[in-house]
Amino acid sequence: MHHLPILQHPDRRLRIKAAVVEHFDEKLADQAEKMLATMYDAKGIGLAGTQVDFHQRVIVIDVSENRDSPIKLVNPEIELIGETVSNEEGCLSIPGVYDSVKRSDRINVSAQAIDGSALEMEAEDLLAICIQHECDHLDGILFIDHLSSLKRKRINEQLKKND
Ligand code: ZN
Repeated sequence: MHHLPILQHPDRRLRIKAAVVEHFDEKLADQAEKMLATMYDAKGIGLAGTQVDFHQRVIVIDVSENRDSPIKLVNPEIELIGETVSNEEGCLSIPGVYDSVKRSDRINVSAQAIDGSALEMEAEDLLAICIQHECDHLDGILFIDHLSSLKRKRINEQLKKND
């Protein structure tokens, strides 16, 4: 399986707002499979199209322990219905950086499956948090954007040193 290169912060392309998917064809299904393979290979639990320079609203996720429960969501819309919780997050586009982000622990998701059929689901805990993180990517938002400006400055300085 061919793996896709993952864009690394501060690549400007991570800030592009992804477009709504209108064509549900073989190419889209193939792209989602490549994204899943790339995510598993990088040992991530989620990947958004934006992160692989594919600027359409597609995310893939697998938060299962056995890495055998892939979820593909196209054009996802979320409604926050839970309590705000703090959870440590990382990101394949910002390797080595982990910090606490406040998110809702329960969400309603309206999306489309890879074949274009409508899909509704409720998600909680890690899955809910992961979907929120990946949906942010589609809007050009990184998890470090949710941190205080001081923390973000420190992280960016650290990343510059590592270059
Ligand atoms: Zn991420």
